[in-house]
Amino acid sequence: VLYEEHPEPLQRSNVAGKVPLGVKGKSLRILVTGGAGFVGSHLVDRLIGRGDSVIVVDNFFTGRKENLVHHFGNPRFELIRHDVVEPILLEVDQIYHLACPASPVHYKFNPTNVVGTLNMLGLAKRVGARFLLTSTSEVYGDPLQHPQVETYWGNVNPIGVRSCYDEGKRTAETLTMDYHRGLGIEVRIARIFNTYGPRMCIDDGRVVSNFVAQALRKEPLTVYGDGKQTRSFQYVSDLVEGLMRLMEGDHVGPFNLGNPGEFTMLELAEVVQETIDPNAKIEFRPNTEDDPHKRKPDISKAKQLLGWEPTVSLRKGLPLMVSDFRQRIFGEQKMGGA
Ligand code: NAD
Ligand code: UDP
Ligand code: UDP
Repeated sequence: VLYEEHPEPLQRSNVAGKVPLGVKGKSLRILVTGGAGFVGSHLVDRLIGRGDSVIVVDNFFTGRKENLVHHFGNPRFELIRHDVVEPILLEVDQIYHLACPASPVHYKFNPTNVVGTLNMLGLAKRVGARFLLTSTSEVYGDPLQHPQVETYWGNVNPIGVRSCYDEGKRTAETLTMDYHRGLGIEVRIARIFNTYGPRMCIDDGRVVSNFVAQALRKEPLTVYGDGKQTRSFQYVSDLVEGLMRLMEGDHVGPFNLGNPGEFTMLELAEVVQETIDPNAKIEFRPNTEDDPHKRKPDISKAKQLLGWEPTVSLRKGLPLMVSDFRQRIFGEQKMGGA
């Protein structure tokens, strides 16, 4: 493993987090692919805050420079515009691989999950870096087991409209394990359940961002289907804590990282009404094909082996993203957008 010694003493404030400094307490060089995105940018904040050097590789497909602008000028931060589908040469100790068009409106467009993951594994192999894959609860498909445990193999339609995402991530997991078993690469796999928070894409069609934006814009909340399908919503800071614990820990995974609190979409709409606008109307729309009926993580494994569990409930977390959304939506309108 390569370590970088910094000439000047680092400000290892570590205020934001409970995770100790990187391996052996030294400052690490860390690559975050997709670091200009929603989850990635929060992760970068924590890593920089901990005293590490961070390189972000992002093609700005769904990510935004604004999510990282507060690090510009920091000598420990570097931002590279690059598509991970193309090879890249970098020297790093750890790779958090998040790059992926992550929402239904975006993920059809490219082979990031397969080719991008292969390239980042190749990079990990060349420099001996530890590699963490951000997989997804979607690998469980429309699950026949509830809640979902990591040992469950899932129920995925291989030719459906969501398949390039589900199957792409399943292939990414396979590649990751093959590089681990066959080539001895140190890997970690996280299966992330629905996550929300500030800096989420406003118009990418996810339910939390849709409802919050709709309530703020005084539009009806669009509930798809009968609204009885369930999801479990995790606040982004809980996820970032879990990802860092996984990376620093001794276990490959896969680990479910999600909040076990389970809500129907109608219940979510109620929480949004309570939080933003009690008068917000609900409008029913036809559901999309292959929509999973329920989803809830069993997080016993992460609790036991990573000492991790979420701490922010939906009712506490939702207000934390509202001010960010309000500012972006009404700021945009002033600029003539929205
Ligand atoms: P996001 O869209 O905000 O972030 C993804 C980032 O990857 C963006 O900045 C985008 O520009 C970048 N990107 C996409 N394709 C790229 C490419 N080919 N080369 C370089 N950069 C590329 O999404 P997010 O919610 O922050 O998701 C981050 C990761 O977590 C993804 O891998 C996603 O699959 C996974 N995940 C997220 C959730 C969730 O609820 N947010 C749930 C499960 C899994
Ligand atoms: N790769 C990369 N950066 C590196 C090393 C490899 O982008 O620093 C890419 C490489 O171009 C290849 C992929 O990762 O497409 C897999 O690399 P690996 O060495 O495992 O496979 P090989 O090149 O031997 O097929
Ligand atoms: N959904 C909804 N209204 C919306 C957007 C989504 O009712 O405006 C539903 C969608 O049908 C699904 C659930 O919310 O059942 C979660 O959708 P999302 O795309 O956020 O996450 P995923 O389906 O990937 O878990």
